[in-house]
Amino acid sequence: MNIYYHPNYNISLGFLDRFHPFDGSKFGKVYKEIKTLEGITIKQPAHPISEALINEFADDQLQQKLTQKDYILKALEVPQMSFLPHSIIKSRILKPMRIAAAGTVAAAHDALNGTNCWNMGGGYHHASPHESEGFCIYNDIGIAIQQLRKAGTAKADDRFIILDIDAHHGNGNARTFGDDSTVDLFDIYNNEVYPSDPTTKSKVNINIPLQSGTKGDVYLKKLEAGLNQVKSGYKIAFVVAGTDVIDIDPLGALGLSIQDCITRDTMVVERLIALNIPFVFTGGGGYSEGSAKCIAGSLKQLYKC
Ligand SMILES: [Zn+2]
Repeated sequence: MNIYYHPNYNISLGFLDRFHPFDGSKFGKVYKEIKTLEGITIKQPAHPISEALINEFADDQLQQKLTQKDYILKALEVPQMSFLPHSIIKSRILKPMRIAAAGTVAAAHDALNGTNCWNMGGGYHHASPHESEGFCIYNDIGIAIQQLRKAGTAKADDRFIILDIDAHHGNGNARTFGDDSTVDLFDIYNNEVYPSDPTTKSKVNINIPLQSGTKGDVYLKKLEAGLNQVKSGYKIAFVVAGTDVIDIDPLGALGLSIQDCITRDTMVVERLIALNIPFVFTGGGGYSEGSAKCIAGSLKQLYKC
């Protein structure tokens, strides 16, 4: 597989990092762990996604909102940091997210040509063409599918699936694709935390709600049953592989171990290979010390797939 990473994926506001429970340097930690593996292919997105490309996806109201610092800070869940100049937010937070989104777009092109990919960043599944929220500003998977169609590399009736295995329900993807019959949604998530949105439930094709504290054995059984419902015929499977499913994550409130998380990723990869569906893994959420260990562990196991 091609692994997408860029040093600028890492988000840091220096001493202000303590205001958000997000290990913004996890990408660099993973890179250090995996870069010397034999035969590994690590690619960098050439440049951040452009303003024009963002505006093709975002509706007029969202384009307007994204010019407002307070809206962005609320979407990033750090409204208390309103003392930060807009230029710092743009360069230290939004630019890394735009580079990570470019990784998803590039990976989608590779996957369409048959190469599986893992983008360490992206997977901003709470964003949609109408809103940014939940630390997600740009819906990179939505943008990627739009760009594939625009380039003509994907036809209008080509089918995609998003497998959302982040701890949180993918309300942004549901808003983006809920009425698009060519994009199916699979979601296994904690039903007792944000966003708790009935509309999202009604839009997801394979919907697997869990209770807070669900342990690895129960989770993996339910995941397996859900994966067995996924059929072949998709051009690409996008995976939102948030590592906030592990028990030390302060926001996901599930009970998986790091090894359970690695097993989760392995099960998804094995199922997609069996179904002959090229895939793009994306980072999703994951805010704890254990997050980098999960991603590095999965990549060490799966980078030759
Ligand atoms: Zn999450």
